[in-house]
Amino acid sequence: MFNINNILRENIKNLTPYSSARDEYQGEASVFLDANENAFGSPLEQQFNRYPDPLQFEVKKRLSSIKGLPVRNIFLGNGSDEAIDILFRSFCTPGVDNVILVPPTYGMYKVSANINDVETRNVPLTAEFQLNLEGIAEAIDKNTKLIFICSPNNPTGNSINRADVETLLTNFGGLVVVDEAYINFSRQKTFIQELTEYANLVVLQTLSKAWGLAGLRIGMAFASEEIIEVMNKVKPPYNVNEASQQLALKALENIEQVNSWIKETLVQRDKLVLGIKDFDFVIDIYPSDANFILVKTTDANGIYNFLVERGIIVRNRSKVELCEGCLRITVGTPDENDILLETLQNFK
Ligand SMILES: *Cc1c(COP(=O)(O)O)cnc(C)c1O
Repeated sequence: MFNINNILRENIKNLTPYSSARDEYQGEASVFLDANENAFGSPLEQQFNRYPDPLQFEVKKRLSSIKGLPVRNIFLGNGSDEAIDILFRSFCTPGVDNVILVPPTYGMYKVSANINDVETRNVPLTAEFQLNLEGIAEAIDKNTKLIFICSPNNPTGNSINRADVETLLTNFGGLVVVDEAYINFSRQKTFIQELTEYANLVVLQTLSKAWGLAGLRIGMAFASEEIIEVMNKVKPPYNVNEASQQLALKALENIEQVNSWIKETLVQRDKLVLGIKDFDFVIDIYPSDANFILVKTTDANGIYNFLVERGIIVRNRSKVELCEGCLRITVGTPDENDILLETLQNFK
């Protein structure tokens, strides 16, 4: 039932994309006088005088072997936040279309919708932080283009039931965007392997969390070739800079280091839960599939301010719906976690 032409914006359907110098000639020439670069070099040890590869082929090739899917199914953005924005710009007509959000969830979906003047329809998660499928079905109309599902969910930390996401994928005529920013910490399988099954699936991942590269700004979208082609057409030509591409390529060689940090993070997460659960001010600690825990407390603002005064910053989520009294705490190094626990001993 899914047909990309039913959801593409008219102006994007008809768009002639920008054609850069690097698009028009790719190959092994020796004299490049086509892009108005400075042929002498850069005032740096490392040379950045040439424009980067617009389609980041080397990085994608490496990701392709890590993720087990073809390069043509991979989009890279300046963070996954850029992929989110490009989905809005490709599929949602401002002032006309709408998207479904399932709060409490990642804040950028709403901000990106607002920037693009796209209506958001909120269908809150249940008390168990799972999807309200009936509510979502009622909220969908002919102008609903995207549904954002974050799993494991930020800020609640839990994974969304797989069968529920599959129900959406089967029945919804727009795109189901599954944001897997925290998938490396989860016991759940990635949705990447379902891409062959569902033409309307977009999976987002990022190098910002488990990979430890938040400063490079590299996010990934995995989807059908036709969706990836649209996203590549809409993105700024050189959206991932040369320094980031080179460093990402190098970092992606070091997967063992990342895997050992993931293991250590899970050990530290369990220790943090054990250390926190008996404090008087703790009402509940929600089960986490991510590198953070959500803790329901009797006095979120008090604890937050107490920690700030002692140089420790956690995220106060107490104003977020279904998260009254909640603090979101990222798992740190063993030392950092000890400092947090020792400091909390003194909170009265
Ligand atoms: C941190 C986070 C991202 C990451 O975005 P980047 O732009 O890739 O750094 C995306 N989605 C969720 C749910 C996140 O928590």
